Amino acid sequence: MDELAELAERVASRSGRREKVALVASYLSALGDEDLGRAIRFLSGRPFGPRDPRRLAVGHVSLREAVTAASGWDAETVTLSIREVGDIGEAIGLLMRGKTAERPLSLAEAESLYRELARRRGAVEKEELLRECFLRYRPLTLKYFVKVITGDLRIGLHEKMLLEAVAAACGVKPDALRAAAERTGDPAEAALAARHGRLEQISTRLFRPLDFMLARPIASAREVPDPENWLVEDKYDGIRAQAHVAAGRAALFSRGLADVTQAFPDLAAALERLPGSAVLDGEVVAWREGRALPFTALQQRLARKAVPLFLPLEAPAAYVAYDLLLRDGRELMELPIEERRAELERLLAGHDEPLLVAPQRQATDQDELVRLFAEARARGNEGLVLKRRGSRYEAGRRGGAWLKWKQPLATLDVVITAAEQGHGKRATLLSDYTFAVRSGDRFVNVGKAYSGLTDQEIRELTERLRALATARAGPILLVRPEIVLEVAFDGVQKSQRHESGYALRFPRIVRWRRDKRPEDVDSLERVRQIWEASLSSPGRSPSR
Ligand code: AMP
Repeated sequence: MDELAELAERVASRSGRREKVALVASYLSALGDEDLGRAIRFLSGRPFGPRDPRRLAVGHVSLREAVTAASGWDAETVTLSIREVGDIGEAIGLLMRGKTAERPLSLAEAESLYRELARRRGAVEKEELLRECFLRYRPLTLKYFVKVITGDLRIGLHEKMLLEAVAAACGVKPDALRAAAERTGDPAEAALAARHGRLEQISTRLFRPLDFMLARPIASAREVPDPENWLVEDKYDGIRAQAHVAAGRAALFSRGLADVTQAFPDLAAALERLPGSAVLDGEVVAWREGRALPFTALQQRLARKAVPLFLPLEAPAAYVAYDLLLRDGRELMELPIEERRAELERLLAGHDEPLLVAPQRQATDQDELVRLFAEARARGNEGLVLKRRGSRYEAGRRGGAWLKWKQPLATLDVVITAAEQGHGKRATLLSDYTFAVRSGDRFVNVGKAYSGLTDQEIRELTERLRALATARAGPILLVRPEIVLEVAFDGVQKSQRHESGYALRFPRIVRWRRDKRPEDVDSLERVRQIWEASLSSPGRSPSR
């Protein structure tokens, strides 16, 4: 862990992508098999493998309590330092300087500490272990030990770069490694196979679910400057489900990769009749008279363990398929969406309810997109999902090849309090914004958004924000709260990360409100009201 921390520092201090990748590759190639897996997991901000059910369940409050106890600093100083530094891992490293036994920590030991943390029940027990760790290991190591707990190293090493480094370290092509990592859902497993020349043997396994491709939220058609490059489907309000079918057997897996077959015996029976083997992606919806019913109609089903097949069901279900990932042993994920779609239509041709294919539409301009959105809503669906022409199936990614556009839960006017540089072509611009609402005569942060503005607006904002800067905390520029944005979001959740106690889910920028002043922004009270209202509205299953 000590070497990993030193490597992370070096990676963070370099700005060149190639240099970062080369540093990580040379570090990884010197590691033994077991450490290779651990290092890959830790560098991607995960204490355990993606399929490991263990959870640390350690929040910011526990980290703060533990560092207060270990460092001897008073609670106020600790809270202030964390806020000023902007990253709790970094703050803990600084607060523990000169106060630890500076013992070495290996990757294997770090892993057993994470296991022990996950095993311990209750905050007090976890904090006790954290306190002991904080007193024992080197401050720099602690910084990254904690960053793995909070889930993000923040060293500008994105997943794609990490995979490139792993590929270089194992002597294989990045694309081959990425594809294998998507098939197994675990980059460490793919890395080991690559190192031992077994990459080709990794194939999609039937009845073992793959990660789902995810959609990036957008708030309006304005965010799609090139509608002709997208295929348009309705966004169904159902349960995302992957269907595995082979030799008369069928299984349905939900978002949490849980097997939900028993809740849908009617769908399983229809899927079992499909010829050959296949893995489909799609949505389970409640279906009546040719249209989808709201999701709540399906909830009773999920609540029950087993649903009797021949009883008249309150809400008949349908499976609306929209992708095909495997067909008779052939993997299709790397093929363009149009080809996967054609195979899907062939597979389901001649089938009727409850197996359907999501109709696909096209738009030539933004007005037409707006019309398609309205039509989808009129059919009782949530909005639209846009899929980029020519795109492959990116398992487990929210990479922007799918966009989801639904009616936001609400929008809020907020003020920017901090900004960060973006990635890729936005690396020199301030394009990630932390934003706040009013609380008395102060502003308290409720989220961070980085999409929704045009490049021109981002350039202009970058200049304005630089002029408003008051301080810098690592990569974050703190700014005087002056710029007002309208943001849309999908929900409000309680959060220990922000002092406000709340965080918006999937916030995206609707527009820059040049007409509004900071004193006009929404209040924390309004955020609380939205949160409370969402508690009493029909609940949504977390597995969706
Ligand atoms: P959200 O529920 O807001 O996270 O939106 C993403 C989800 O949209 C996916 O995980 C799917 O469950 C759902 N969805 C509904 N219709 C489609 C569709 N046509 N294509 C892809 N995803 C869809």
